[in-house]
Amino acid sequence: MSLFESPFFQDAFSQLESAGATMKMDPNVLERLKYPKRALQVSVPVRLDDGTVKVFEGYRVQHSLTLGPGKGGIRYHPHVSLSETAALAMLMTFKCALVGLPLGGAKGGIKVDPTDMSRAELQAMTRRYTTEIAMIIGPDKDVPAPDIGTDGQTMAWLMDTYSQLKGYAVPGVVTGKPVAIGGSLGRAESTGKGVVFCINFAYEKLNQKITNSTTVAIHGFGKVGMPAAHDLHSQGAKIVAISDVSGAIYNAKGLNIPAATEWVRNRKLLRDLPDCEHITNEQLLELDVDILIPAAIDGVVTKDNAHKVKARMIAEGANGPLTHEAVDIITDRGGLIIPDILCNAGGVIVSYFEWVQGLQMFFWDLDTVNKKLHDIMKTAFDVVWKAKDTYKCNMKQAAFISSLSRIEGAMKLRGMWPG
Ligand code: NAD
Repeated sequence: MSLFESPFFQDAFSQLESAGATMKMDPNVLERLKYPKRALQVSVPVRLDDGTVKVFEGYRVQHSLTLGPGKGGIRYHPHVSLSETAALAMLMTFKCALVGLPLGGAKGGIKVDPTDMSRAELQAMTRRYTTEIAMIIGPDKDVPAPDIGTDGQTMAWLMDTYSQLKGYAVPGVVTGKPVAIGGSLGRAESTGKGVVFCINFAYEKLNQKITNSTTVAIHGFGKVGMPAAHDLHSQGAKIVAISDVSGAIYNAKGLNIPAATEWVRNRKLLRDLPDCEHITNEQLLELDVDILIPAAIDGVVTKDNAHKVKARMIAEGANGPLTHEAVDIITDRGGLIIPDILCNAGGVIVSYFEWVQGLQMFFWDLDTVNKKLHDIMKTAFDVVWKAKDTYKCNMKQAAFISSLSRIEGAMKLRGMWPG
């Protein structure tokens, strides 16, 4: 098994190299950032409901701890691999640095389809996985959060298992927990809210506004896509298409987002939603809309379909939904891309707030959380926009450059041991 085996890692690697070359980064620092600091592979045995034992493959990768404890989600998905987890951990390093958090980059996951498992099986798997990675996580070491296929309940089991091992409650070991056990108000919607903040900032720069004729398509109606749909819907935009793993629904006049939300929250698939026009996920990506939000998985727009993507603005809600070739094709034809490490940073920013609140045992109201989220995202957006103009590059490269400048400064100050 190699770090380079997934196209996602290769893509993150080449984006790093290209941004490093554009900003003339110190080659010794660049060399260190190409590889994760630490990667742990674990076997996770689970007794299934039928009495048999099945062993799942799990990972926790820490890409960089230069700026602080590792931060990054835990993914339950059949495509999880060391290579994909390492790529996601690398992106977390860049994301945390870009928005100025005192945190490094990490990621974890289990290669599993969680939709095939009962609640008892999921709990057993989460608790065993936590035990296996307990040696490298902790409030001062590495703080996991939810990602694809995991949620607040998963984080509650993780926090409880870690706390059982320590003998006392350790809320700071995870973020994305339910509010009742030390979670932060606003965390659940934070990533989608941040996506919409970025769309509004971009419209301001372009001297445009969201109106009731602004059309939006959202690929992935989950923890990121759903709150983004809500905020845009409440600003008056027309959400013409949304999708999940089963397919997409479309209405040129605008979908009923509250009804679709209710349906999905009841664990039903969009393909079964009655009285609407069904299209494929691929067709959704190619719709002629003002804003496309890919908020499902990585690598959905590549050099093979980028020419067919017509959206004027693409807000990367997911991590790595566009390959770097797709980014070049779309920016060359004048499309504006708000890059993942900026666009979806709302989640890690409010995770940071949750961690701080947990350490202080002092909790903030929702307005405070959202105001601070807005201000941090605005500052980061302006930094990236300025770097785009300074380096005459696209927003994706500008985001990498802005982030790498911060990391380069910190790594040089800390030096290397032994030197
Ligand atoms: P989620 O599991 O809540 O939702 C994912 C959505 O995508 C679901 O609607 C699912 O049905 C759909 N989906 C899954 N596989 C698909 C496929 N092959 N084709 C089309 N749709 C598919 O996950 P999430 O937390 O919303 O994460 C989505 C993306 O956002 C991921 O890339 C994740 O890393 C990234 N992200 C999440 C957060 C967060 O706070 N949750 C923060 C930053 C980035």
